[in-house]
Amino acid sequence: MIRCVSCGEEYDDDEVIYTCEKCGSVLELVNEIDVSKDIFDGRKDNLWKFKECIPVDETKIVSLDEGGTPFCKCDKLGDELGVNLYVKVEGSNPTGSFKDRGMTVGMTKAMELGVSTVGCASTGNTSASLSAYAARAGLRCIVFLPSGKVALGKLAQAMFHGAEVMSINGNFDEALEAMTALALEKHLYLLNSINPYRLEGQKTIGYEIVRDLGWQAPDRIILPVGNAGNISAIWKGVKEFYDAGFIKDLPMMTGIQAEGACPVTNAFRKGDKRVVPVENPETIATAIRIGAPVSDIKALNAIYDSNGYSETVTDEEILDAQKLLARTEGIGVEPASAASIAGLKKLVDEGVVDKGETITCVVTGHLLKDPNTAIDACTKPTEVDADIDTLREILMNK
Ligand SMILES: *Cc1c(COP(=O)(O)O)cnc(C)c1O
Ligand SMILES: [Zn+2]
Repeated sequence: MIRCVSCGEEYDDDEVIYTCEKCGSVLELVNEIDVSKDIFDGRKDNLWKFKECIPVDETKIVSLDEGGTPFCKCDKLGDELGVNLYVKVEGSNPTGSFKDRGMTVGMTKAMELGVSTVGCASTGNTSASLSAYAARAGLRCIVFLPSGKVALGKLAQAMFHGAEVMSINGNFDEALEAMTALALEKHLYLLNSINPYRLEGQKTIGYEIVRDLGWQAPDRIILPVGNAGNISAIWKGVKEFYDAGFIKDLPMMTGIQAEGACPVTNAFRKGDKRVVPVENPETIATAIRIGAPVSDIKALNAIYDSNGYSETVTDEEILDAQKLLARTEGIGVEPASAASIAGLKKLVDEGVVDKGETITCVVTGHLLKDPNTAIDACTKPTEVDADIDTLREILMNK
């Protein structure tokens, strides 16, 4: 069953519907887990190991073996910050971001509904993921990207997998508005995160975190927030496992935004339940360069209900954290993902995070997604001839 998060109106699973017809709010799937967690044991470690908890037809699954991502204990960085730190590495998904979790479920639903065309507006990763899954499913794929604001790796993926890519003169919010209008005219099936089936896939990040901790919740989960679907999804996941009795505690959901695109943090600071859109969002972390997040209600509920928090970080703090994670722990992430690490640092400094807390930072996308930003952040390699004497001299002098 699909239910409106605001007025509670209920809809049938097979309705193609993105927002509540009564009040216009966002929708969510309602499901109760009635299996024992033991049934997940011994299955291949991808997200479909949790198939009993994902409300789609398992005979229609479109999968690239997503989920089951690394869960790295980061003692060097953790000790430096005085916390017990784990990093969930979502860049290890098939197309290099957590969007694959949402897309495998969303695309499976598309097959169940029998649609022929899928579409999304994207800051990059959604389009990279959608185009790959549409190729696998054999469906037509339409993608709207904000002109000039998509990281190179993501653009390459969307184009290479054969999506019909349109570069929209406008920002992400405008591109999404146009794409949504076309979906409501039934020209295509919308696979942005306003589609509640996307979040049914992404909630498995929450499942895996508590599973990886030995069926325990961390004190806190920290992640970047853009369109605000993922923080909502992860909260839904951990809450489902809590309600099923698989874990005894819940984590504080902590959402980090870029200073130039922080409607959710602004709302949190005022104690509001909705955001006031930010007009011209700007940040180097293009994946979270969003001014009017569609899942704001769900995300703010997640933060309030979990006794969580929201904070902003500057682009400089993001780039520093990106380098820090890469160089102390060997984990390469794109700028948006590093917002979680930058946020952790800031919250430790501010005393919001207590010493000794068990923290999971979700790093959402791979370093190679945005090669230009990575290269710009480094000094150029020295050019030398392949002469052993010269090379030896350089090495010895360092
Ligand atoms: C999509 C994305 C985000 C933001 O997730 P939302 O669900 O939009 O809040 C963060 N980081 C990366 C790498 C992303 O691709
Ligand atoms: Zn409603």
